[in-house]
Amino acid sequence: MEHTDRDYAVTKTDEEWRAQLNPAEYQVLRQAGTERPYVGEYTDTKTEGVYACRACGTELFTSGTKFDSHCGWPSFYSPLAEDRVEYIEDTTMGMKRVEVRCANCGSHLGHVFEGEGYDTPTDQRYCINSISMTLRPKTATGTETTPEARPGTETETA
Ligand SMILES: [Zn+2]
Repeated sequence: MEHTDRDYAVTKTDEEWRAQLNPAEYQVLRQAGTERPYVGEYTDTKTEGVYACRACGTELFTSGTKFDSHCGWPSFYSPLAEDRVEYIEDTTMGMKRVEVRCANCGSHLGHVFEGEGYDTPTDQRYCINSISMTLRPKTATGTETTPEARPGTETETA
């Protein structure tokens, strides 16, 4: 696959990527490979947290938009933010698909499909390889969200 002219915040030579990633990761992230369905470590993961790019660490997706697509890969209905990913038209399989890449380092993540009828807010399915991401569980950060004020406490005496 040809690379675009785009300049990424993180750019490394092929050699550097090979040193950083294991062969399976390299094949998916840097050669736009696809892991086999139903074998990825995050396919059915329900853990709350953020999914970061395994190549550069940029946070890409959250567990809140992950849904059960039963397609064999982790599926999200939207990215964490639109500027975290980039879209590239992909016609390599003889059909028009939209490839999803990390906007920070250009690594391949998966594809996005839409209009499939999934009961999600966007009707989109970001079909992402587990091996392209690293899950950062919510509790690992140690930063709890501030508790919401409970209505009706203290003043209610009746
Ligand atoms: Zn990245």
